[in-house]
Amino acid sequence: MADKLNPFEIAQRQLDEAAKILKLDEASHAILRNPLRELHVEIPVKMDDGTVKVFQGFRVQYNDARGPTKGGIRFHPEETIDTVRALAAWMTWKTAVMDIPYGGAKGGIICNPKAMSEKELENLARGYIRAIGRFIGPEKDIPAPDVYTTPQIMAWMMDEYSKIVGYNAFGVITGKPIPLGGSLGRGDATARGGMYTVREAARFLGIDLKEATFAIQGYGNAGSFGAILAKELFGSKIVAVSDSRGGIYSEKGLDPHAVLEHKRKTGSVVDFPGTTPITNEELLELDVTVLVPAALENAITAENAPRIKARIIAELANGPTTPEADEILHKNGKFVIPDFLCNAGGVTVSYFEWVQNINGYYWSIERVHEELDKKMTKAFNDVLEQYKERKVHPRLAAYLVAVQRVVEAMKLRGWV
Ligand code: NAD
Repeated sequence: MADKLNPFEIAQRQLDEAAKILKLDEASHAILRNPLRELHVEIPVKMDDGTVKVFQGFRVQYNDARGPTKGGIRFHPEETIDTVRALAAWMTWKTAVMDIPYGGAKGGIICNPKAMSEKELENLARGYIRAIGRFIGPEKDIPAPDVYTTPQIMAWMMDEYSKIVGYNAFGVITGKPIPLGGSLGRGDATARGGMYTVREAARFLGIDLKEATFAIQGYGNAGSFGAILAKELFGSKIVAVSDSRGGIYSEKGLDPHAVLEHKRKTGSVVDFPGTTPITNEELLELDVTVLVPAALENAITAENAPRIKARIIAELANGPTTPEADEILHKNGKFVIPDFLCNAGGVTVSYFEWVQNINGYYWSIERVHEELDKKMTKAFNDVLEQYKERKVHPRLAAYLVAVQRVVEAMKLRGWV
């Protein structure tokens, strides 16, 4: 059952499907099925009680045919090499579909950051960079924040790398605080990029977003900015949102800022005045125009996909739809904006950060928004072209665009 496969097997299966349609040659397919390089490191860290604890870390550089590799670093107790491999593969397709001059990578450390002090986290961040320092760099591999890693952790990592090379290497890492070369517009970049793709999907489907309703699963960074921007950019009505404790519904529409304030005060969107409680399962099946999964993997499965009523499913989360569910949604005329296109606004503004670091010249927020819009719109329409031409579901169309671009680069370089 595909729903139970490990994430790297899912990533390989998705590639295999694209390879079949593209009639990919054997060598190109073989290179793309596995990471080009991966590094496993042991990181000794001095703990507050005076003991030394050894943590295990990974950095996977999946494919760098199109440029230096790029991808976040996760601190997680259940991190596995297969998760990191899958995420590195998806970063390869994400940067290719966005046509930004990068390959894909990912990093991870097995640790429980919630049980560590600030000093221990700093020691771990610096130790990781000492262990992988020779393998990264502004021209080689550029990490970024991901699950449980923050701008502060990026600042320590940039500082450690700068000490190793002997100069300020701001371009080695993105997602840094603004005074250390971070870009304006990174905070809402993922949701903003996603909303630009929703706008393009609505244009294609002939939907007027002023009249549209939205349901959003997950009210963290991606989901809450998604709600705010859907209202601000399109004048759409947000009728339901949720978090891990449950969901709220209002036929009249919610004020996303007020809901965020309520979540800040109480820790959850639940019990927001004037709303009806709903479960996360009910939220997914609401009769809305746009459904935005912005929380977890595998939210839409073969079990609930037949009951999804939304016309557009905008995947701000990574991996919210299983391969079986994709087929069902496609057959039922639902339009999925696949994760590695829909949530690529974050990596795109990370790319802008790197460009600004290299040039030493910093952009206004208006310029960041304008360039992000251009990139997202072009990528969406490249995918749409394949969708119409090959008559495949949108995720497969996005794979076709991405895989062709990586293969073209490998062929031009003479690798295959
Ligand atoms: P976050 O931690 O800020 O928010 C996650 C939200 O999901 C929280 O509101 C949490 O309560 C909710 N949630 C957790 N379990 C849930 C459940 N069982 N049912 C409903 N809601 C639940 O995280 P985020 O940065 O917003 O990321 C959300 C998703 O978007 C992830 O899949 C992430 O990989 C993806 N994503 C985020 C970014 C980014 O820049 N933030 C970029 C690309 C992809």
